[in-house]
Amino acid sequence: MLPLQGLATSSRLLRTALASGSRAASSPPAVRDLHSTARRCLAAVQPTSKGGTMPGSEDRFVKIVEVSPRDGLQNEKNVVSVETKVELIRRLQEAGAACIEAGSFVSPKWVPQMADTAAVLSSMPIKPGVSYPVLVPNARGLEDLLALLSKADSTQPPLTDEIAIFTAATESFTKRNTNVSIAESIDRLARVTEQALARGLKVRGYISVVAGCPYEGAVDPQVVGSISKQLFDMGCYEVSLGDTVGVGHPASMLAVLEACAKYNPPALHAAHCHDTFGTGLANVLAMVKAGVKTVDAAVGGLGGCPYSPGATGNIDTESVIYALHQEGYETGYDLIKTAEAGEWIAKAVGKENNSRAGKALLAKARQALAQNQQAKL
Ligand SMILES: [Zn+2]
Repeated sequence: MLPLQGLATSSRLLRTALASGSRAASSPPAVRDLHSTARRCLAAVQPTSKGGTMPGSEDRFVKIVEVSPRDGLQNEKNVVSVETKVELIRRLQEAGAACIEAGSFVSPKWVPQMADTAAVLSSMPIKPGVSYPVLVPNARGLEDLLALLSKADSTQPPLTDEIAIFTAATESFTKRNTNVSIAESIDRLARVTEQALARGLKVRGYISVVAGCPYEGAVDPQVVGSISKQLFDMGCYEVSLGDTVGVGHPASMLAVLEACAKYNPPALHAAHCHDTFGTGLANVLAMVKAGVKTVDAAVGGLGGCPYSPGATGNIDTESVIYALHQEGYETGYDLIKTAEAGEWIAKAVGKENNSRAGKALLAKARQALAQNQQAKL
């Protein structure tokens, strides 16, 4: 493992290599080696022709909602400190994240990992132009958030201007997760949303288990479509379609999207995919190509699902960025800084870095750095 300084150097070297193909001919041999290694790595995966499916420039931007500080850390066994969460948020901002789900105002009895959300919001650096939605499961959670916001310094930008609410596509999952039926959950969320909108907060809706449920198995896409409509009707500006247990595949996710698109366009929905069966990235790309403009992801593939043994984490941000950039989309993220953030938080929570793109990119950078240093000897 390289020290941090070495890692920073390796980032610079790789960035230089990627950016300066045309200058390679006049570079020293060691740098030329580095350039050719990085170019070979990219050439192996870059399309030779842009083909007819490339979107127009106005349609190329895909927003990534970075969910690692909430969805990711909430499902990790170890509770991490406020300092670590704040540092993760800082690193994500540095990497270009424009929407970071910062925490959850859920009962600490249910989710001890999120008990310190108020402290995280109060101490994280607020970057202009970045939004920091927080999950609010019920009226009590909203009350706690509003109490915090009312205490904040009014001369400073607000700690957050957005909440996220959630329900699920099956009765059993909703009952286990929130102890009510889907209809009761929608009623409860409508009241929370009304109150939040009245206080000037934006509201984002989540639907869990849209492509499969650990208790009921298959899910009817029409049920998801109807719940999505109800979330929009109550005032959500976007609805995120969560394959919480990661059993979905492109055809099943597209069936869900089609059912939702009967009422509201794909561009108002987000893809929230987990990678349990290795289909997370395929699902994301299929949904983006079908018109979805927002993707939820977590650096290092953090997360899991406590109600579904064996479920792996969220699709990792690094792979989403890599694939989208290769496909001609823009995200506003710096892939190398994102990969470093993913590696850092995986180490901080004591687990393996679950980002294949992140691991591959950093390994390549280190190999190039080692070759470069050896050539200097
Ligand atoms: Zn998730």
